[in-house]
Amino acid sequence: MKSLNNELKTFKESIFATISHKAVEANAVNLGQGFPNFDGPNWLKDLCAKAFDSDIPNINQYAPSPGRIELREVIASNARDFYGLSYDANSEVTVFNGATEALFCAAFALLNPEDEVIVFEPFYDSYLANIKLTKATTKVVTLHAPSFRFKLEELERAFSKNTKMMYLNSPHNPSGTVFNREELEQIAALCKKWDVYVVSDEVYEHLTFGEIEHIPIASLEGMRERTITISSAGKTFGYTGWKIGWAIAPKELTHALRMIHQFNTFSVCHPIQIAMAEGLNRLSEYLPEFKELYSKKKDLLIKGLKDAGFDPISPEGTYFVLCPIPDNGMNDIAYCLHLIEKHKVATIPPSSFYLNSDDGKKYIRFCFAKTDEVLNEAISNLKKK
Ligand code: PMP
Ligand code: GLN
Repeated sequence: MKSLNNELKTFKESIFATISHKAVEANAVNLGQGFPNFDGPNWLKDLCAKAFDSDIPNINQYAPSPGRIELREVIASNARDFYGLSYDANSEVTVFNGATEALFCAAFALLNPEDEVIVFEPFYDSYLANIKLTKATTKVVTLHAPSFRFKLEELERAFSKNTKMMYLNSPHNPSGTVFNREELEQIAALCKKWDVYVVSDEVYEHLTFGEIEHIPIASLEGMRERTITISSAGKTFGYTGWKIGWAIAPKELTHALRMIHQFNTFSVCHPIQIAMAEGLNRLSEYLPEFKELYSKKKDLLIKGLKDAGFDPISPEGTYFVLCPIPDNGMNDIAYCLHLIEKHKVATIPPSSFYLNSDDGKKYIRFCFAKTDEVLNEAISNLKKK
């Protein structure tokens, strides 16, 4: 048989799936893969059931390829109300099968094999896979532990005349860093200087803690025209399985995204779009309870980890906590397997989110999007010798 796509040789099963399988095999509490083990709001589930059963014409047939207009309109109005960003629902907003599909389409809409792409490490794993499939070149800039922030001179050195695009992820998975205005201004200045597009993954936009503010890079001067902003309802409403994501971007970039989307999935689950339009319409009423819920879960896990003898890093955003591995000579993978087997707790080893630095081998990632019972069980398991 002839060989398959050469890039596949470097692909492995995603670490999230691997750890989830191991957690099931070992009957371990799963604080690995990032998804809530409880349902989001019941009212949204009811709206979804109603949408499937409604008599809206063709509701159970293909949705329009760019997404239902009701949903695109509310995405545009939220961007205006939350961030003062103005996008046209018709020509500048597109609905995707989760942020994952939007990220895939963004890479294929922008990249040619001769292009270079800057990405901060640790990175969300799909960025690297997408760059590889387009045959572009990855340039990595490390967010240095333990603060998980970049050094400006290292970022400056990564740019060249071949740089086409940069990935930004804020709030950042797995570190919980939320880039502040000064950092975003530095990134923006370099992207403008070198004429670089930004693919800004903001799926945790509404999951920031305390006084920390999420600032979309598209809201900085001169950045709207070069930014594709991607988000997802999966995180905000706790229904990751519904796979509703979107991208907002100026007209020409949106057109390019839609050209890829039409030959990728073409359209997104139709009835759920109706429910999500209403969900996003109620976003400001819903957010305070969402933030409070996750803030309490963060505090519960951080305190529990400290009581169990760990030294966790409190995140500024996201539902993840990075924790240095105790001084025991194990790397992240060995320690992660040890916790699954000996303590019945599954976490994510972050070294697979790195290309250059060894920092990832020194941490493990916990997800606190879990019921208090599950978090408490994990903490009690970790305390056992
Ligand atoms: N980007 C980041 C940083 C994520 O953490 C995730 C999912 N955990 C995604 C993208 C994918 O989002 P979706 O589930 O909407 O495809
Ligand atoms: N983004 C989720 C995480 O970081 C996982 C999503 C997936 O498995 N594709 O855990």
